[in-house]
Amino acid sequence: MKPQLIDSFNRVHTNLRISVTDQCNFRCIYCMPEDMDFMENEKIMTFDEILHLTRIFVDLGVDKVRITGGEPLVRRGVPELIKQLWQVEGLKDIGLTTNGIGLVKQAKALYDAGLRRINVSLDTLNEEKFEQMTRRKMLAKVLAGLKEAQHCGFNPIKINAVTMRDFTEDEIIDLAEFARENSYELRFIEFMPLDGDDIWGRNILLPGKEILNKIHEIYPLEPVQMNGNRKHAPAKEYRFVDGKGKVGVIASVTEPFCDDCNRVRLTADGHLRACLFSISETDLLTPLRAGVPDEAIAELIIENVKNKGPGHKINAADFVKPARNMSMIGG
Ligand code: SAM
Ligand code: SF4
Repeated sequence: MKPQLIDSFNRVHTNLRISVTDQCNFRCIYCMPEDMDFMENEKIMTFDEILHLTRIFVDLGVDKVRITGGEPLVRRGVPELIKQLWQVEGLKDIGLTTNGIGLVKQAKALYDAGLRRINVSLDTLNEEKFEQMTRRKMLAKVLAGLKEAQHCGFNPIKINAVTMRDFTEDEIIDLAEFARENSYELRFIEFMPLDGDDIWGRNILLPGKEILNKIHEIYPLEPVQMNGNRKHAPAKEYRFVDGKGKVGVIASVTEPFCDDCNRVRLTADGHLRACLFSISETDLLTPLRAGVPDEAIAELIIENVKNKGPGHKINAADFVKPARNMSMIGG
């Protein structure tokens, strides 16, 4: 299939993140407020609608999908959805991002559904800090979920960590050691202004470079060459010189990678966002429910992507925070 999702900067979009719910059993302070208002159930895409829209995206050249949320595993039936997604002709890769809580119960079903790549978010190994970060006391359950995923055979298992200055800064080496010991790939994500409580600020943002330097001082690192499709990956990767795995940083704020972006996002209520920081989005679900033909929905998608801006403006004076916080977009 000839890729058709090309924007005015010649970026080709082949990677779709699908949020299956905006609900979550955590309330991470960098993502959503404690008293979050969730979308009404009727507004959320059914699995059939997700599959229908995915087929249209795949016809337009998308070949990689990541299931996310909110917390995707709070929605019942995600393994079944994954099984059905694999039936979409042309789709080559499916991944899942989760907070890990649901893995003890669901890892096997997910694996049996053909899922192999998962990212589990874990910012700290310290129980108290975990509770402050997620506003939930569930570290043990996440760790058990990671073990279960490994037991089932998931590979790679990536750990996503958002690290904050003067808070979890002192956890960097502990997380690196934890990942090295357990063969997880660790990736640090810079805190982006997509939180629900407006706590974001450069004073708490820990730049990716600083994180890497801290690790490199103790466990020397060397860059991994990113060729082919991997050059679109948001994480810059480094390998431990002693051969014990890899670590990556997603430095969206201090080293934006918008020039290489190949991602678009579908929110749980079926709105297309060409960028995490888009101010405008295209409602695909309403026309889909109204019976608008696939060709016309494809046109809406093409038009949205064509109008994608050159990059986020976090570092610009005229930056405007999107109305949706991260859990409502799908990270
Ligand atoms: N609930 C799942 C989870 O936590 O992995 C999936 C959704 S979550 C929105 C996806 C990723 O976005 C997580 O790795 C999370 O750490 C990250 N994230 C959330 N808010 C963020 C923010 N303001 N800045 C950077 N990363 C953020
Ligand atoms: Fe939930 Fe993931 Fe957001 Fe944390 S980062 S509140 S786990 S959606």
